[in-house]
Amino acid sequence: MSTAICWMRRDLRLHDHAALFHALSNHESVQLVFCFDPHILNKLSDKSDLRVSFILQSLQDIEAEVIKKGASLKVLFGLPEDEIVSFAQSLKAQAVYCNRDYEPYAKKRDSLVEKKLKNVGIEFFQYKDSVVFEKTEVLNGSGAVYKVFTPYKNKWLEKLAAQDNHLPDFKISLKNLREFKNPESVLSVDWHAKIGFTPTHPLLAGGTHEAMKRLKKFMPAMPQYAEARNIPALDGTSNLSPYIRHGCLSVRDMVRAGLSQKNEGATVWLSEVVWRDFYHMILDTHPYVEKESFKRDYDKIQWLGKKEWFEAWCEGRTGFPLVDAAMRCLNQTGLMHNRLRMVTASFLCKTLLIDWRWGEKYFAEKLLDFDLAANNGGWQWSSSTGCDAQPYFRIFNPYSQSEKFDSEGIFIREFIPELSHLSATDIHCPPPLLAPDYYAPIVSYEKMRGEALKMYSVIKN
Ligand SMILES: Cc1cc2nc3c(=O)[nH]c(=O)nc-3n(C[C@H](O)[C@H](O)[C@H](O)COP(=O)(O)OP(=O)(O)OC[C@H]3O[C@@H](n4cnc5c(N)ncnc54)[C@H](O)[C@@H]3O)c2cc1C
Repeated sequence: MSTAICWMRRDLRLHDHAALFHALSNHESVQLVFCFDPHILNKLSDKSDLRVSFILQSLQDIEAEVIKKGASLKVLFGLPEDEIVSFAQSLKAQAVYCNRDYEPYAKKRDSLVEKKLKNVGIEFFQYKDSVVFEKTEVLNGSGAVYKVFTPYKNKWLEKLAAQDNHLPDFKISLKNLREFKNPESVLSVDWHAKIGFTPTHPLLAGGTHEAMKRLKKFMPAMPQYAEARNIPALDGTSNLSPYIRHGCLSVRDMVRAGLSQKNEGATVWLSEVVWRDFYHMILDTHPYVEKESFKRDYDKIQWLGKKEWFEAWCEGRTGFPLVDAAMRCLNQTGLMHNRLRMVTASFLCKTLLIDWRWGEKYFAEKLLDFDLAANNGGWQWSSSTGCDAQPYFRIFNPYSQSEKFDSEGIFIREFIPELSHLSATDIHCPPPLLAPDYYAPIVSYEKMRGEALKMYSVIKN
């Protein structure tokens, strides 16, 4: 009987799954596997990391489904190049199937796994799954990858409209899943303890059921997305990013949802999903961006900010209410609204004059939806070091951003209770006498604006 393994990574679902579809089509028996990789886990300094619980919830969701078919999900713990290879050998599998991951570490890991599998006569197949268009599928007129988003998006949409099969729905029939008695089911083992973490309760619980609930809830709100998406106090965005990051739903589910409505909100929402593809393409084709500025010249900048300013930013005590509320929200929930990511990132780089890499790293530690490509893209956009970034002289004013996007101070009040008594006029820039329990601004915005323009001037010519 021909047996294969489907190795799940950032694709924790049982529907519309390219690798699973191909494994089930080509083999009589398929075993699902997930591997906790110490290389990734060891980098997580907070042993109550929300993402570990989110992943376990997602795995439990999968297991609950496959158990109904008399099958199982095998969970491994160890270096994938050892664990996946020896598990495949133990099952006498002919092949290992997985979906492509474009992060530099993942690419290295996968080529090592492939090499080791080949050495023992096992095939390794990878599929495009987490993006609609990958690598060099969307090219400009001269055959080069785009470095500007709008023409990329236009070409992306054109390509999608030209051929329906760019959005396949990989229909999965689970009947060929291997009947495999697995005493170490996700539910029966204390996986948190086994891999050295403590259980947490992410505000957004993991798994496909939750993802689909969120998508369903968002659909009637989609027409208002173009305006509502900028207001952090509103539930105006889909909140799907942790689910798409871990693959609890597919990117094709999202694109189909965006295409199912004909209104401005749907158009803008789809465009955000295209940004995601864009940043994955940039990371894949320019892997140096993981460590360096996309516009290499910008690495000449001498960042002048102080370590204690960075600490105040991390802890939400800069004395700038919107920035502090956003950072406290991130620290408490692992979530942050896109408008606030732009405000806090711009503030760190262009008001506190701190290297974007510090902020990127902090977000990477905290975000439930942390995704290297999108996070790096967002930070390089905000710091003006990235491709198609905002120009360096565009500096968000944290006070006017606050007045514009949290005009009543509803979001600020939620995360800074010591300001909750202030009026909608005072809350954006609290008068010290009225807010004795809150922090004085650690810097003067106006003064730092001038410093930032000087600091960035090294790359002007
Ligand atoms: C400094 C900074 C860091 C960021 N870090 C991440 C990150 O680690 N992971 C992450 O998924 N997104 C990141 N983003 C992008 C964006 O903030 C989040 O995707 C968005 O807030 C998620 O909320 P949502 O699911 O409600 O999005 P919606 O507004 O409902 O958008 C739908 C989906 O489109 C994608 N998307 C939306 N905006 C962007 C964008 N600007 N870039 C790429 N994809 C986008 C997401 O997958 C999102 O789920 C970052 C942005 C900035 C400015």
